[in-house]
Amino acid sequence: MLEKIVIANRGEIALRILRACKELGIKTVAVHSTADYSLKHVLLADESVCIGPPPSAKSYLSMPAIISAAEVTDAGAIHPGYGFLSENADFGERVEQSGFVFIGPKAETIRTMGDKVSAIRVMKSHGVPCVPGSDGPLGEGPEENLRIAREIGYPVIIKASGGGGGRGMRVVHTDASLLNAINVTKAEALAAFGNDQVYMEKFLERPRHIEFQVLADHHGNIIHLGERDCSMQRRHQKVIEEAPAPGITEKQRRKMGERVVDACRAVGYRSAGTLEFLYQDGEFYFIEMNTRIQVEHPVTELITGIDLVKAQLMIAAGEKLPWKQDNVEFRGHALECRINAEDAKTFMPSPGPIKLWHAPGGPGIRIDSHVYSGYNVPPNYDSLIGKLIAYGETRESAIARMKGALAEMVVEGIRTNIALHQEILSHAAFASGGQDIHYLERRLGLK
Ligand code: ADP
Repeated sequence: MLEKIVIANRGEIALRILRACKELGIKTVAVHSTADYSLKHVLLADESVCIGPPPSAKSYLSMPAIISAAEVTDAGAIHPGYGFLSENADFGERVEQSGFVFIGPKAETIRTMGDKVSAIRVMKSHGVPCVPGSDGPLGEGPEENLRIAREIGYPVIIKASGGGGGRGMRVVHTDASLLNAINVTKAEALAAFGNDQVYMEKFLERPRHIEFQVLADHHGNIIHLGERDCSMQRRHQKVIEEAPAPGITEKQRRKMGERVVDACRAVGYRSAGTLEFLYQDGEFYFIEMNTRIQVEHPVTELITGIDLVKAQLMIAAGEKLPWKQDNVEFRGHALECRINAEDAKTFMPSPGPIKLWHAPGGPGIRIDSHVYSGYNVPPNYDSLIGKLIAYGETRESAIARMKGALAEMVVEGIRTNIALHQEILSHAAFASGGQDIHYLERRLGLK
């Protein structure tokens, strides 16, 4: 086992990693910015190192600062969490070159999957179904790009190869706006991701977002842990996630699960990872792979009983996966509501001091959150202040428990999106399950 690790992240995921380490007897080093002295995991860690000022670029994104923290504390490994440097192949490489274990896949895998064009190419070549598209990056030739769009059929979506976080995408409905849209997306992609490569896909009008979780060790053992439905989105950002995905049959799960496992084996994948798909008219279309732990991992943990963060730590230590695909059982249903420090109607961020924080509880309720009464939400980072997760034997009971928990929850001092979750959960359409990715925006009158 690992003896001591650096947690190179903040917020709820840093605390989640710390909890897994405590359980496994691994010592922890929290690295934090000057805005984050009072984060829960910083207070609970065995050691902590301040790595810079509040802006992420100077702290949580500073590779030398994080690697130095590992050196001075004599840690053996670095867990990147999600966001920040978690999918930065150069970081993974530098961590390993400095003699530490990177808790994640090999740098070359992160590099291949981080570029969406190369990820799609690899997945396609290993039998994973992808969205009909340009089959590679778009070139400069206007005639050729118009031809590709006509062949795919409008509407199409122009996407940045290096894109992430729902940015760097543009839907095009006609020839007349295609070339301009390509140019604008290229310019945006260059500014945001330092890479102006873009590609084209068929824009699916009413897909669901369904993703498969995988775990792979260093010994060639790979399993999938079923799927999650993350179709409740606003501006391509997930709001509520659940597992399993309503209406997906055991046969579909087995078939897609086998395909993703085969593809991961072919690319020599290791650690936890997620293959994201759009699902429409009974077909799955791969869109991208996330080579890290995801925000919504708890819903999979609750229906499989497998602790994904502990699994990441065990895999990084070189241990063999203790599960075989046949022993993975899916039981019950889980939902996750992302609780954000933002206005429930305008979505404006609402940082500041939390005067009162009262977390709900009871059977089947889990809350992953780093905040507490008296905690001050800094304005510098993501607005996620916690995740409320509900489990039930059936989807109906999970929803009922979630409704109860949302009603119990009290957050004073800042605004939150709790009221939005209550509204979504009260919709008959949500109760019936299986809504598409545009449902929430239509419902909010944004579309
Ligand atoms: P990111 O890395 O920014 O999350 P993704 O490729 O995962 O980008 O896409 C994010 C979201 O954008 C998807 O969940 C979906 O809502 C929408 N999207 C992406 N590609 C398509 C497509 N071909 N058709 C329709 N919607 C899409």
